[in-house]
Amino acid sequence: MTHLPSSCDLVIIGGGVTGAGLFHETTRLGLIVVLAEQHDFAWGTSSRSSKLIHGGLRYLREGHLRLTRDAVKERERLLREAPGLVTPIAFLMPIYKGHGPGRWTLEAGLSIYDLMAQKRQHKHLSAEELVAKVPFIDRRALTGGYQFWDAQVDDARLVLRLIAEGRAAGGMALNYTKALSVDRDEAGNVRGVTLQDAETGRTHAIAAPAVVNATGCWAEALHPQHDGKRHLRPLRGSHLIFPSQALPIQSAISCMHPEDGRAVFIIPWEGVVLVGTTDLDHEGGIDAEPRITDAEAQYLLTAVRTLFPSLGLALNQCIASLSGLRPVISSGDHKAPSEESREHDIWVDKGLVTIAGGKLTTYRRVALDALKAAQPFLPPIERPAAESPGFVTVEPLPPGPGMHPETWQRLCGRYGSGAFSIAADAKPEDLQVIPGTHTLWAELAHAAAHESVRHLSDLLLRRVRIGLLLPDGGKAHLTRIEALCRPVLGWDRRRWRRETRDYLQQWQRAHGFPWQIQPRGLLERIREWLQAQWDRLVDRLPFLAGHTIKVERVQGP
Ligand SMILES: Cc1cc2nc3c(=O)[nH]c(=O)nc-3n(C[C@H](O)[C@H](O)[C@H](O)COP(=O)(O)OP(=O)(O)OC[C@H]3O[C@@H](n4cnc5c(N)ncnc54)[C@H](O)[C@@H]3O)c2cc1C
Repeated sequence: MTHLPSSCDLVIIGGGVTGAGLFHETTRLGLIVVLAEQHDFAWGTSSRSSKLIHGGLRYLREGHLRLTRDAVKERERLLREAPGLVTPIAFLMPIYKGHGPGRWTLEAGLSIYDLMAQKRQHKHLSAEELVAKVPFIDRRALTGGYQFWDAQVDDARLVLRLIAEGRAAGGMALNYTKALSVDRDEAGNVRGVTLQDAETGRTHAIAAPAVVNATGCWAEALHPQHDGKRHLRPLRGSHLIFPSQALPIQSAISCMHPEDGRAVFIIPWEGVVLVGTTDLDHEGGIDAEPRITDAEAQYLLTAVRTLFPSLGLALNQCIASLSGLRPVISSGDHKAPSEESREHDIWVDKGLVTIAGGKLTTYRRVALDALKAAQPFLPPIERPAAESPGFVTVEPLPPGPGMHPETWQRLCGRYGSGAFSIAADAKPEDLQVIPGTHTLWAELAHAAAHESVRHLSDLLLRRVRIGLLLPDGGKAHLTRIEALCRPVLGWDRRRWRRETRDYLQQWQRAHGFPWQIQPRGLLERIREWLQAQWDRLVDRLPFLAGHTIKVERVQGP
């Protein structure tokens, strides 16, 4: 915060995909822009999605033609501009007699979908053809199905790439910086924002004629809606994450849940399989990380067990869970969660522009709409057209020695021009993938050095995603990760141990399973206290490092 200017053209509050998308657009227009995120970049919903860049067939069925058309166009743009970050994915949609939409309904929907993308890419499959693709699918009453194409993304990396390019264009983006208030003059016009460093508590007022509130589910904390009609309705969506050995599918599958007919996705992603999602009112507060409930896990398990009865899947095979809150705008007419529109809304109040709702896929359209609303308060600019290129292109270089072209494309997609320094700075052994993932060891060191990592959870859950891809949040690899990253992070051993402890506890709370959590007993608390004392001693007497302290319950007298 010491580097913050005292004034700028625009402050963006919120470092999810919406805020990052606007940061990316406005910095490239030459505006002086500051973005503030209260936790880590993409900490909110934008790292907890189903990771699809899609038009959303469901929205088509519900008549949201504009949303579907915009999303399909954005999907095509992202596939063109960010290969390696946004990649095509084939979907299969089985048709069962007497359950879910039939062949002609799907044919009509998929034809419109293709028409919007201006390419024909769906095809009907007979029951035999579908079974050849997914041999363990339930064949009873299966009449055939469809194959169609959408795209998928690493959602947090999308946010980080937008932030990185916005910074390269001169913008300033701060994580762990909360906007405490939007400040106004006597006439009510916005004159800036008061920011607070989440760790030191220090505050800083920054003057700006325009503020965009892109805080997703938190939007009404900074911009309350007084008309009482349209409010944010945080809807929780959860996923189970299975290892691909347990659920060996090559294509994503969209099926209808046997209990309520909602669409459920089973999606291969980064070497694991996501099963999701639920759609429920989130009763808990929105400040704590959301987590899956027992009932949601059972609901998702029922969907996969019904579709693949022969696999005998069980919850104890899951690697992790993932829950997020959808920032959905509701007019309060008691609709079922899944019937609420996913369209975004923009509220303007004398220099404060609030964006609420929307999808990951349409982040750029949403950003451009917000820019249009903020334009009257900004210095003169020429707004880019939605059709103009969204990313700064990275020229594909010949891959480095031993690097597969696909790996190189993956790096360029995720890190933009940062891919060059990953390849140049890495030792050859760090250009290997972390077993069980598609992530290179070198990505960790690069992120630690260049991507504003403040905590271990930032590194393992958002810069790379191994916290979601490996058992126990990647605990087994922490020693090698420490050797790679601790020196660049400038953390001493004590800080590393504290970060490890916090990360594993946080992982257990947000990505573990409720039924596995044991209440912390007295012994556990004594153990934690003793461990903390021991850590302190090791810091003073380094020759003790390498020894451990062990606390055991002794049975008997
Ligand atoms: C389960 C689930 C699955 C989804 N799947 C898909 C999908 O497959 N495809 C798709 O297109 N969309 C999907 N979505 C929707 C999509 O993820 C969201 O629409 C999108 O991520 C919202 O981004 P956002 O930036 O508006 O909000 P967020 O990502 O939540 O960002 C808001 C940020 O603001 C910060 N903030 C809040 N208050 C303050 C403050 N006072 N000061 C500073 N910072 C603050 C928060 O910490 C947060 O990081 C899904 C959503 C969910 C929940």
